Amino acid sequence: MATTLDDLPIRDDLRGQSPYGAPQKHVRVQLNVNENTHPVPQDVADDIVESIRQALRTVNRYPDREFTELRHSLAAYLGHGLTAEQLWAANGSNEVLQQLLQAFGGPGRSVLGFPPTYSMHSILASGTGTTWIPAQRDDEFRISPETVVAAVREHQPDIVFLCGPNNPTGTPLSIDTVRAAYDATDGIVMVDEAYAEFMPADVPSAVSLLPGRERLVVSRTMSKAFAFAGARVGYLAADPAVIDAIRLVRLPYHLSALTQAAAVAALRHAPEMLAMVDDIKEQRDRMVTELGAMGYRTYETWSNFVLFGGVADPNAAFEALLDQDVIVRDLGIPNHLRVSAGTEEETTAFLDAMRRVAADQPPVRLDA
Ligand SMILES: *Cc1c(COP(=O)(O)O)cnc(C)c1O
Repeated sequence: MATTLDDLPIRDDLRGQSPYGAPQKHVRVQLNVNENTHPVPQDVADDIVESIRQALRTVNRYPDREFTELRHSLAAYLGHGLTAEQLWAANGSNEVLQQLLQAFGGPGRSVLGFPPTYSMHSILASGTGTTWIPAQRDDEFRISPETVVAAVREHQPDIVFLCGPNNPTGTPLSIDTVRAAYDATDGIVMVDEAYAEFMPADVPSAVSLLPGRERLVVSRTMSKAFAFAGARVGYLAADPAVIDAIRLVRLPYHLSALTQAAAVAALRHAPEMLAMVDDIKEQRDRMVTELGAMGYRTYETWSNFVLFGGVADPNAAFEALLDQDVIVRDLGIPNHLRVSAGTEEETTAFLDAMRRVAADQPPVRLDA
């Protein structure tokens, strides 16, 4: 008989849990995990390979534990007068957030979030023994300064997680809400800005609130706009003291010399790496318009994906799309699916497939 988890002396709080992860299926049109579906341009890829080639020559040595060059590159990329001392990076922003919870959360502490939101937030809370407190969103999945302040006063969390734009809904988050959350708590306020580059260009990032706010943390990733999901590079900006706290829990040499070299090289080409962002936003807006015309309910989105409602049977629609070589995401929100914006061709393939789904399974009205 094969050994199962139940046969092992596993932590009681992990018993019966299943690991997080969207299905990794190889289909023609993959619009399920909000990746940038445009590959890295060839000339940038060549430069990255050259940097990795050089890094390999000293790979017998441990990497720079402080990834100094990368932190300088990230500070320059973010702007806002940030210095390298205010930057920290890890293997994806998931690891950054885990380190933040290891330093500021943990047993006996709590983190407040506003579901539906990025499901890794509650899973990272669980993995670090931090109590996850879910609070309500307003209509259309928004949160306002009043909502956030009321939830903070009620629950007195040690950490507040905000996600702007929010995954999986795309909902904007105003910096007034961030400011209000900060003023209402003595704890850490973390703003997950994984989709910041897809926001309207004139909208300020929470990074602009960092001066004078030593408990504010803004996390970003190279996985989405930067087309670098497979390289695993996420980062945060905060007061240097927050970064000193994270040094207490990080594994030494957590960021490999090859990752550092690749990220520094990619950041040298930031404008080229980000060249597709406008195109992706255009395809996202096209999805909103055309799904709406088909009779689906869409929401304002500042990200690279669209949540749409009115799907009579999301599981059946998911399967019907898969049969047409298109994969989207079913997040278990009743009557809703989420789709990432693709290239023009992928977006057309998705919309054509959706028209066939809608013909079979007409959109339903959602309760107000
Ligand atoms: C995709 C995503 C991330 C990115 O995670 P990485 O570990 O950097 O790939 C973080 N936060 C949100 C809200 C996301 O949607």
